[in-house]
Amino acid sequence: MAETLELRIDGMTCADCALYVARALERAGARSVRVDWRAGKATLEGDGLGREALSAALAGTRYGVAGVSERSRRAPAARDLDLLVIGSGAAAFAAAIRARDFGRRVVLVERGTVGGTCVNVGCNPSKALLAASERARGSGLARAVAEKDALVARLRREKYLDLMGEYGFEVLSGAAKLAGPHSVEVGDEVLTADAILIATGASPAVPPIPGLTEAGYLTSQTAIELTEPPRRLAVIGANAIGLELGQMLANFGSLVTFVDVADRIAPFEEPEVSEALTAILEAAGHRVLTSARVEAVAVEGGDKVLRGDRDGEPFELRADELLVATGRRPNSDGLGLAEVGVETDARGAIVVDEHQRTSVESIFAAGDVTGQPQFVYVAAAGGAAAASNALGLAEEALDFDSLPRVTFTTPQIASAGLTEAQARERGFDVESSVLPLDAVPRALVDADTSGLFKLVAEAGTGRLVGASVLASRAGEVIQSAVLAIRAGMSVSELAAGWAPYLTMAEGLKLAAQAFGRDVAKLSCCAA
Ligand SMILES: Cc1cc2nc3c(=O)[nH]c(=O)nc-3n(C[C@H](O)[C@H](O)[C@H](O)COP(=O)(O)OP(=O)(O)OC[C@H]3O[C@@H](n4cnc5c(N)ncnc54)[C@H](O)[C@@H]3O)c2cc1C
Repeated sequence: MAETLELRIDGMTCADCALYVARALERAGARSVRVDWRAGKATLEGDGLGREALSAALAGTRYGVAGVSERSRRAPAARDLDLLVIGSGAAAFAAAIRARDFGRRVVLVERGTVGGTCVNVGCNPSKALLAASERARGSGLARAVAEKDALVARLRREKYLDLMGEYGFEVLSGAAKLAGPHSVEVGDEVLTADAILIATGASPAVPPIPGLTEAGYLTSQTAIELTEPPRRLAVIGANAIGLELGQMLANFGSLVTFVDVADRIAPFEEPEVSEALTAILEAAGHRVLTSARVEAVAVEGGDKVLRGDRDGEPFELRADELLVATGRRPNSDGLGLAEVGVETDARGAIVVDEHQRTSVESIFAAGDVTGQPQFVYVAAAGGAAAASNALGLAEEALDFDSLPRVTFTTPQIASAGLTEAQARERGFDVESSVLPLDAVPRALVDADTSGLFKLVAEAGTGRLVGASVLASRAGEVIQSAVLAIRAGMSVSELAAGWAPYLTMAEGLKLAAQAFGRDVAKLSCCAA
C-alpha cells in the first residue's frame, strides 16, 4: 500500500511555481506528485518520506513546507496508464514529454504518420518549398520537392521519433476511439487511463461545390507533392495557406488567380494589410478576385472552369489546376465523442474550458481539434498545459492576448494581439497609427517600400493591444510587439525605447511615435 501525504506549501504564486515544486519533490523520491499552487498544497505518495526529507527538497528555494499530514493509504492505480493521448502531432508530443518529465505512464496512439501535420505536411514542408521558390524563381520544383522530403524525414526523426526513446514513451499504431471516460479502443485492444487527451488535429476542409470532386483539386497536402507547376492555377481561399502555396507555385512559374468569397484577401488581418498585399500581388502579375463565390466547377476542353457570383455579377475562371484552401476542419469524426458525452461545436471542434478540459472530467483536448487558433505553438502549449492539468501537476491556462501569427508571403504578414476591429468588438475604445513602409529607413535602403506597420492602442492609457506588419522579415519584427503587449507597454514607452537604426524592427518605434507626431518630420534614428 502506498502512503499518500498532503503538504501545505508556502510561497507558490503561479503555475510555474507548481511545476518547480513538483519536480523538486519528485527528485527527493516522491511519486504521483500533484501540486495546486492556488490552494498552496501538494499531494504525493511518500513511501516513508518524512517532513525533513520533503523540507530538504525545497531548501534554498523561495518555497517551504509548512505542514505535512497523512491523507490515506490506497492501492496502486488500477488503470493501465496515467495519460493516454490520441494523436502524435505537436500537441500530443508536448503532452507526452510533460508527462514523462514527471515520471508518469503515457502512451500515444497514431492512425497515420508519427509527427502529425506540422512536420509532415504543414509548417516545415510548405516553408521549405516557399524558401526554395524564392531562390529558384521559375524552375526546379521537382528538385525542391525532393529536398523538402529529405528535410521532412530528418525533422520527423530528430523532433519526433528519436524523442520517444529519449523520454521513454511509445506510439501505438492504429485509429483510436473512446470507449468510456477512462478507456480507448485501438483495434481489438482496450486501454484504460486516468486521463485521456484528444489531440487529433484537423484536415483540409473542402466546400461542397457541385462538380469540384469530379474535376479534381489540390489541397495543402497534395500541392506540396507536385513536381511540375500547373500553367494556370486557381486558388480558392486567400488566407494564410492559400496565399503561401499560391505564391510558392507562382514563383515556380504558375500564373495564379486568388479567389475569395470575402471582400478582401487575408480577411482576418487589418484591412490596410489586405489592401497593400493585393496591390503587391497584382503588381507581380497575379490576379485577385474578391467577393467571388464559386458555385460550380466543370471540366471543359481540358480546362477546369469555375463559375459563380462576384458582387452580384456572374464570373467564370479557367485554370489547369485548382487549389482548395478554405480552412481546416477538426478531426473529431469517428472518435465516439457523442457516445461518451464530449461536446463539440457547430464546426465539430471539441469544446474545452481554459484548462483544456472537455465536458467529460477525465478527458482533455488540445491543438487543431479544439476551436483554439490553429498554430503549432498553440497546439504544443495546449498539449503541455492539458497534461499538467490532467495529471494534477498544476493548473495551466493559455493566454492568447499577445498571440502572434505570420503568413510567410513575400512580403510577410505578421500580427500580434488584436486587430482594430477585434479590439472594438471586445469593447475597447482604441486608437491606431498606420505607418507606410516608405517611412522606415530599412525599407528605403532595401528599395522595397511596399508594406506598412499598424499599431492599435487603448485610448487614454495608450496600452498596446495589437500590432500588424507587412514587410520583409515581418515575422522576426513581430516578436518585439509580442513582448511589448505581454508586458503591458504603452505606445509612448515603445516610442521612447531603443531601436537599432536600419533594422525593420525600428518601424515599431516609428509607428509608436506616429501616434503623437508626423514621423516624416523626424531626423535620423527616430530620435
Ligand atoms: C500547409 C500548412 C502550413 C502551416 N504552417 C504553419 C506555420 O507556419 N506555423 C504554425 O504555427 N502553424 C502552421 N500550420 C498549422 C500547424 O501545422 C497545426 O496547427 C499543428 O500541426 C496542429 O497540431 P496538432 O497536434 O493539433 O495536430 P496534428 O499535428 O494534425 O496531429 C494530429 C494527429 O492525430 C492523428 N489522428 C487523428 N485522428 C486519429 C484517431 N482517431 N486515432 C489516432 N490518431 C488520430 C492524425 O493522423 C495526426 O497525425 C500549418 C498547417 C498547414 C496545413
